[in-house]
Amino acid sequence: MDDEWICGRLGEDEPWVMGAVNPPVFENSLFTFATAEELGDAVRNEDERYVYWRGTNPTVDLAQRKLAALERGERAKCFGSGMGAISATISSLVSAGDHVLVLGAVYGPTTQFLRYLEKYGVTHTHVDDLAGCDSAIRASTRLLYFESPSYMAYAVVDIPEVAGWARERGLVTVMDNTWSTPLFQKPLTMGVDLVVHSLSKYIGGHSDLVGGVVAGSSRLIRPLALTEYQLYGAAMSPHDAAKVIKGLRTLPVRMPAHQERGLAVARFLEEHPAVRAVNHPGLPSHPGHEIAVRQMSGFSSLFSVVLDTESREAVASFLDKLRYFRIGVSWGGFESLVNAPALSTEESVRATMGIPVGLVRLSVGLESADSLIKDLALALEGVARLA
Ligand code: PLP
Repeated sequence: MDDEWICGRLGEDEPWVMGAVNPPVFENSLFTFATAEELGDAVRNEDERYVYWRGTNPTVDLAQRKLAALERGERAKCFGSGMGAISATISSLVSAGDHVLVLGAVYGPTTQFLRYLEKYGVTHTHVDDLAGCDSAIRASTRLLYFESPSYMAYAVVDIPEVAGWARERGLVTVMDNTWSTPLFQKPLTMGVDLVVHSLSKYIGGHSDLVGGVVAGSSRLIRPLALTEYQLYGAAMSPHDAAKVIKGLRTLPVRMPAHQERGLAVARFLEEHPAVRAVNHPGLPSHPGHEIAVRQMSGFSSLFSVVLDTESREAVASFLDKLRYFRIGVSWGGFESLVNAPALSTEESVRATMGIPVGLVRLSVGLESADSLIKDLALALEGVARLA
């Protein structure tokens, strides 16, 4: 089954869809049963049976089946946000006294959640590479968590190497694959145990949805579907699942367009005198490019640049001058977005993460690359003057 079929048709020819071009949105909060015994049986298997919206729902289930198939996992569970998926997944894998290894830079709230778990006796250590993992691993280490490309720096992790290292030591691996989408990278096929995504980015694709998913083996998904999904309550609504299904229809068309525009913009910036560095793993100059082309079949359009300035005012003025790039958090939608940690992140956090003042994150949308490049060229003139 190819990815385009999975995105556009998987599960949609079944009798319950009744030939509708858009699968039905089941808006009911509960399902009823002919007998009490049937209800009891359904409740005992609530990860698979339709009982109550906070457990599962046919529209959500269709989105889950598509996402599991795209990631080549046995099962997937959708959540009300990416953080819902991440916090439930980590919680399901650790207990008091356990230790977590975090490899490379990861999404800020993921680190915040790991800090939060300290009050329940779960500790973690951030490391930069496998040598760091070797020195930080303990008898109590259960889990290795990472993103590739990494958060803000877009450094590339050698996924098969890291997954193999963890497997040899009996650790479970969880990887955030939001950046690439399952169209461009399939970590489960490279030995990772569980993959998490924010569906709020490219998969939703229209900045009108917040959602998350975890995909992997039934052995790991079933317990978290029955426990953390139900108890934390970050359930995905059927309306959001319908948006995920619609987003998936156009994902195979949108991602190559994002890739092309993102690379055109990155190549322009790489040559610009007011730019010190471009962190885009699709550029041959990127230190992780060789590994990236081995394990990815394409590149999304979120990357960072370091402007040639130490001035927060110059960074702010650059952002303010942009017209196509709108100032805001998040990424992966139609519209191009820009954000600068020096202006939006607490100074101490930025310094701890090693993010330079001039670092600007660009989410290249689906406007024409020419318009975006003209927009950036004009705004960069101001940086050269202020720097
Ligand atoms: N993972 C990454 C890489 C993200 O950038 C984000 C959100 O920005 C998340 C996870 C969290 O997703 P959500 O905002 O859907 O909770």
